[in-house]
Amino acid sequence: MIPVLGFEDQTVAVLGLGRSGRATAAALNAGGARAVAWDDNPAARDAAETEGIELRDMTRQGAFDGVSCLVVSPGIPHLYPAPNPVIAAAWDAGVAVDNDIGLFFRSFATYAWDDFDQQPKVIAVTGSNGKSTTSALIHHILKEAGRPTQLAGNIGRGVLDIDPARDGEVVVLELSSYQTDLARAMTPDVGVFTNLSPDHLDRHAGLGGYFAAKRRLFAEGGPDRCVIGVDEVEGRYLANQLSEGQADDRVIRISSARKLDGEGWTVFARKGFLAEWRKGRQVASIDMRGILGLPGAHNHQNACAAYAACRTLGIGPKTIEEAMKTYPGLPHRSQLIGEKDGVRYVNDSKATNVDSAAKALQAFPRIRWICGGLQKEGGLDGLLPHLGAVVKAYVIGREAAQFAMQLGGIEAEVCTTMEVAVARASAEAEAGDTVLLAPACASFDQYDNFEKRGGDFAAQVRAIIG
Ligand code: ADP
Repeated sequence: MIPVLGFEDQTVAVLGLGRSGRATAAALNAGGARAVAWDDNPAARDAAETEGIELRDMTRQGAFDGVSCLVVSPGIPHLYPAPNPVIAAAWDAGVAVDNDIGLFFRSFATYAWDDFDQQPKVIAVTGSNGKSTTSALIHHILKEAGRPTQLAGNIGRGVLDIDPARDGEVVVLELSSYQTDLARAMTPDVGVFTNLSPDHLDRHAGLGGYFAAKRRLFAEGGPDRCVIGVDEVEGRYLANQLSEGQADDRVIRISSARKLDGEGWTVFARKGFLAEWRKGRQVASIDMRGILGLPGAHNHQNACAAYAACRTLGIGPKTIEEAMKTYPGLPHRSQLIGEKDGVRYVNDSKATNVDSAAKALQAFPRIRWICGGLQKEGGLDGLLPHLGAVVKAYVIGREAAQFAMQLGGIEAEVCTTMEVAVARASAEAEAGDTVLLAPACASFDQYDNFEKRGGDFAAQVRAIIG
């Protein structure tokens, strides 16, 4: 745990008692503050109380009397579509609103560091897609390179739940836009911006608000190094704004769409090869085509980001390459479940929307595609240009027949259940095919969540391939 500093003998309110809220209350108490907490959900309150967390009803009049700060969980709207009433009440009472990320950055460094040979560092990763993969890959490379490291934030443990830093430790933080929007302090050593596409627009009142939330990671403390994906205009704008001209190697530009020219420090992936250039010269290159844990251009973008972040710490290209080869992949994101008779089985259950499914469908050559479920707004039109590698679709979900009709004339079989879909796809697959679960839909019509759906796929595959 990271005891929170700066609130000794003060009362700090915590709103939201999920995993991060409970860790925040404990970390505040450990630092000498008095945490008082609230959640609209009675079950969450009961669970917190059994952990010894003091409750205070923050919806009542005067709840903020004597309170120094309100710490809010990321799931609670703080501005749009409308601020949570407790947050609005804190504003009116003149109480500062923060989150666990802000508390982490003000509490991470301690006097114990004076005795360290190498100062601990923080790498913070944000962006619309690929945050988890990039963060987990950086963490994996650091481990393989023998650096002490911890993974936290939106993935792994809550930030205040991690252990105090060891000598030379690197903490890798995955940060969502909700987290970067609210944190009052953000001072990572390395900031990573993977890419931008529309998401969570209701919470940010549109794309501009969403980008502004992510940009705060680079504006608040000013990281020493910035790794910026420049495949969208927002990334190009950000890279330009953060650097004093192209040769300023405080900024590393990354791309999975094109070769990046110029004198600057760049890392880009093209045709399956990752290349690093600096001062107009190629420094290193990695053949990504055989790296099974990172298939497809989208994962090559993640690989470029992770590679660049690790290079800023002085880790050599060869060490990074070897580590990438052993990256196991995260469950449910282009995760290789197994291979039999030349047929690969890949679980991308996290592809819950049209955009992420489109990326997965461009990552493999001949696809037997398991898709369907609870459709999101906006229909499937965005998928149609990306179905070129699909040999046949095997449709699951309660509305499978209706989903199949929207697939623009590709061969589609209504299977309804995962068991039937996996059995049919595997019976028809030939060597060189990939059986890919990339549903382009939420899972809630048949499963509790996308993890359960991916777990079912993996179990059915293992039952068949042994
Ligand atoms: P995040 O943490 O940002 O949601 P993940 O690494 O968990 O990202 O990936 C989520 C989904 O997005 C997966 O289905 C994956 O196939 C897809 N994806 C991963 N990396 C990228 C990327 N760089 N660009 C677009 N889509 C991606």
